[in-house]
Amino acid sequence: MPCTLSAVAAPSAARFGRIENRERNPKWKNPPLYIDMDECINCDTCIRYCPSSFGAIFNHGIDVIILPELCSGCNKCIEPCPVDCIYELPAENWTPSPQDWWEEPLSTNDPY
Ligand code: SF4
Ligand code: SF4
Repeated sequence: MPCTLSAVAAPSAARFGRIENRERNPKWKNPPLYIDMDECINCDTCIRYCPSSFGAIFNHGIDVIILPELCSGCNKCIEPCPVDCIYELPAENWTPSPQDWWEEPLSTNDPY
């Protein structure tokens, strides 16, 4: 029987560590980003542009969210957003992601 290879790369061990510890990599210099939910049209485009090694953007109920602990600030999601509703979150202003947000990277629906 032929072997079937998954087209989806396995998330990095480093990402799993950030999820387990709920900690942002202190070496990341850029601030994390956030989505203005009042402007977001829930098109999911940004999710496809977030590199799997970071894997920070999720569907969460009717919202699309960025977990700042997982967001490196690489900015790859900004330009593809059709309504320009992704913004920098000054690192000193972010608060830990709420408990229910952490269910997304740990769920079977993790897109990364
Ligand atoms: S800035 Fe980079 S890591 Fe953060 S959500 Fe956007 S694509 Fe993902
Ligand atoms: S690309 Fe922009 S509008 Fe679409 S889901 Fe992401 S933040 Fe919302």
